[in-house]
Amino acid sequence: MYHRILIVIISLLILISCNSTTAKIDENCMMQNASRFIEPENSLYNLPFGIGESYELRQGNCTFHTHSVENKTEFAFDFIMDIGTPIHAARSGQVAAIEDRFFDGNNGEDNYIIIAHEDKTFSYYVHLTNAGVTVEVGEFVNQGDVIGYSGDTGMKAIPHLHFHVIKPNEECFQNGTLGICPSIPLSFKNASPNDKILNQGLIYTAL
Ligand SMILES: [Zn+2]
Repeated sequence: MYHRILIVIISLLILISCNSTTAKIDENCMMQNASRFIEPENSLYNLPFGIGESYELRQGNCTFHTHSVENKTEFAFDFIMDIGTPIHAARSGQVAAIEDRFFDGNNGEDNYIIIAHEDKTFSYYVHLTNAGVTVEVGEFVNQGDVIGYSGDTGMKAIPHLHFHVIKPNEECFQNGTLGICPSIPLSFKNASPNDKILNQGLIYTAL
């Protein structure tokens, strides 16, 4: 199963449209999923940027914009940051797929890193800059390692990092790509403020 996952996503092209605007919240999605978020101190994830760094969460979870139930990216995060900002592994894992051939401002395909975790979930770091991936497929990374640099690739309007984690199920495998596998709710153990559900429009610092 694990190897099959790696093979499936090696050649994946990602088109995640973010636009990075503060979006209208889908309160229904929030209400239905609120109990699925764990307490931050029990989270396996850190914010995907450096300790002491602060970035605005411009678009958060459950929006009627691009982080929607329809897109299955309702638990995604868009952190506004300049092109070239170091991206740190939010959680340890093995690099499953990378892409960094595209150029900032292309308004097309994304540069990205996908990291596989031991519980068969996958972290997506998207919109990275050209030649902005510093890890290789198959490499093991530790939480906090620099894995690449943010950028402005993909269908979007402002430089930012899009981050989300998916948990594949049989249905999404049958469709032949991880791109439509469901995202899962996340909190971050080192976020300040230490919200269980991050609020869009707020600036979060990695402690
Ligand atoms: Zn996004």
